[in-house]
Amino acid sequence: MKTNLKTEITVKDICKGFIYNELEGKGLFGLAGKLTIQPEYQRNYIYASDGGKREMAVIQSVLKGYPIGLIYFNKISENNLEVLDGQQRITSLGRFLTDKFAIKDENGMQYFGGLAKDKKDKILETKLLIYECEGTESEIKEWFKTINIVGVPLNNQELLNAVFSGKFVTLSKEEFSNSRNSNIQKWSAYISGSVNRQDFLEQALDWVSKGEISDYMSSHRNDDNITELKNYFNSVIDWVSTIFIDVEKEMKGLEWGRLYELYHKQAYDTQKVSEQVKELYADPYVKNRKGIFEYILGGSNDIKLLDVRIFDEATKKSVYGKQTKKAEKKGMSNCPLCAIGNNNNKNRIWKLKEMDADHVTAWSKGGATDVNNCEMLCKTHNRAKGNK
Ligand SMILES: [Zn+2]
Repeated sequence: MKTNLKTEITVKDICKGFIYNELEGKGLFGLAGKLTIQPEYQRNYIYASDGGKREMAVIQSVLKGYPIGLIYFNKISENNLEVLDGQQRITSLGRFLTDKFAIKDENGMQYFGGLAKDKKDKILETKLLIYECEGTESEIKEWFKTINIVGVPLNNQELLNAVFSGKFVTLSKEEFSNSRNSNIQKWSAYISGSVNRQDFLEQALDWVSKGEISDYMSSHRNDDNITELKNYFNSVIDWVSTIFIDVEKEMKGLEWGRLYELYHKQAYDTQKVSEQVKELYADPYVKNRKGIFEYILGGSNDIKLLDVRIFDEATKKSVYGKQTKKAEKKGMSNCPLCAIGNNNNKNRIWKLKEMDADHVTAWSKGGATDVNNCEMLCKTHNRAKGNK
């Protein structure tokens, strides 16, 4: 790969002919049309999120004469360059020069158009450090995958989109990385993250590939359709939204793909499921509401998923005191199970730290986690009971 360092290109040059596409959230062209700011494998513009702090910081840096870092172009031909790295910074500059946002100076919030002439000139005449790279597609992609990007690093899915760029990625992004897709709102009930940062696409790929995203993208790279990806994704979403009628906020970000694989062949009475969900949501002893859905799907057996609240120290102490007093009077063990046993522990008085609290009536059978349903057992018996 050939690289050529350019030091004479100014902000004014770069932003000549800059267009920002509001709908797609993209900066499009620069260098009077020679430069494509956002090629297919680049992420959307994200510096404007965060209340625009990052794009303002780019402008402030330029005004103070601070370097804004190296920028990399891919030279496709004499009159055709693409931004490999620096798209966010260039878009910030372009957006500022076209009065898309304001910065704070001693006179308050200022748009570029309203800045003093010396400040305008300072920005326009700032020279950028630009590497023009020429190489094969695979060389450039390999390199792009490994460079350490200034600002917000590319996340995993953004890197994969770059590495496997092509028809399949383009179509996938149109469906899953498009904030104008009206399905996003429905999907957001089950998937967390942001459309712009490829989180929905990543989820869809993760489900269809059972976690082997990279392999899947590689083998489908040249497909001219995304039918399988779309169908699988929609099957998972339809399945969840059919079984769980009510949307709860704890559903967001659960492993729906895994649960779909495990349970989609089972039949459920959705009315009953809905009642179970409500009951568990109302249960003050359920600590992990995210576990409710898998708990129900699995037949309400695996209580671990709910992380049911345990007895607090005060309750344990009080029950221990009562139990021990009684036991001492009778000359028997303060562990009720030891007391009815036939070994040396029959009369043993355990210390508090040698015992654990147990539900007399199991939580799963409606037993509460309060003092009236608490019994102290020696650790051995408690463990034995818990394993049943
Ligand atoms: Zn015991």
